Amino acid sequence: MKRSRDIDPIAAKAAILDYCRRKGALAAGVADLAAIERIAPPGHRPKDLMPRVKSVIALGVGGQTQGAWTVPAKALGYFGSTETRAYKIAYGCAFFIEQKFGFRSVYCPPDMDPDGGPRVPLQSLKLHAELAGIGARSLAGDILLHPEYGYMYFASVFTELELPPDQPMADNPCPAPSCVAMYRSIGQTPCMKFCPVQCLTGEVGEDGKQKVMRYDMAACSEMSQQYETVPTRIVEAIRAETEAEREDALFDPDNKMLWYKVSAGSGGWFAQCFECMRACPIATKAPLADPLLRGQAQRAAAEKK
Ligand code: SF4
Ligand code: SF4
Repeated sequence: MKRSRDIDPIAAKAAILDYCRRKGALAAGVADLAAIERIAPPGHRPKDLMPRVKSVIALGVGGQTQGAWTVPAKALGYFGSTETRAYKIAYGCAFFIEQKFGFRSVYCPPDMDPDGGPRVPLQSLKLHAELAGIGARSLAGDILLHPEYGYMYFASVFTELELPPDQPMADNPCPAPSCVAMYRSIGQTPCMKFCPVQCLTGEVGEDGKQKVMRYDMAACSEMSQQYETVPTRIVEAIRAETEAEREDALFDPDNKMLWYKVSAGSGGWFAQCFECMRACPIATKAPLADPLLRGQAQRAAAEKK
């Protein structure tokens, strides 16, 4: 096993972040491990998973195509999430670090903590990404936004290789000027106004910055994360007093969709409903928020050369 002094940490960091970008990440950075350890609750700190961890690398991939915003929520719920691309890059990155630098590394599981139930993740990938400077918390339930890439899906890698950390973003793009104008007019920003279950509330200060963000996670989850609905339907079927009631519990058209999603392994199982992001000017109109915009920018840059 190599020791840190054999490796130039700045060059190693550049190679690792370059790997992430070459594999499709829009943004990547290194979070300040001491800050994560201070902020994350006990049991959910990087050292709780990997005691000798020295660095946390966060990366983000873009959301869906621009065309996706033209389809209704019932379709977008199936394919709007692109997080598996981020996980794939992070997995590869952990192998890359072990192979190239000889330091133990691990793809940070994005999953729920078996000791905490289905609302408690093992780690906060959001906190890692925020501290790595690749997103800032928004009024839409703290979804991270980036001024150039809009909203992204994040993944993290833990490694025993020590890398210099990045800083959180100095400026938060949320709320956008048009959101401040709407808030001054009706008391809501677009994400708040268009959330179908009104689970977002908050305040914008005199300075045009976020003052208070409130997010009713249970209401959002009920709308967009249906995996907890399955046991409820099964209990209803077990407790049904008549055959007709049991049939209703299992074969009502809405409930039958749950069995479809289970059998198809559908991403719609725990997607967002996306309406807050559909209404968000940063998510949809940031300069490099989607492949059409990124393609235009690349073509323009190529023409200048
Ligand atoms: S995902 Fe849907 S339910 Fe959740 S905050 Fe956004 S708009 Fe509201
Ligand atoms: S719509 Fe987007 S930018 Fe505007 S307040 Fe909501 S999250 Fe922030």
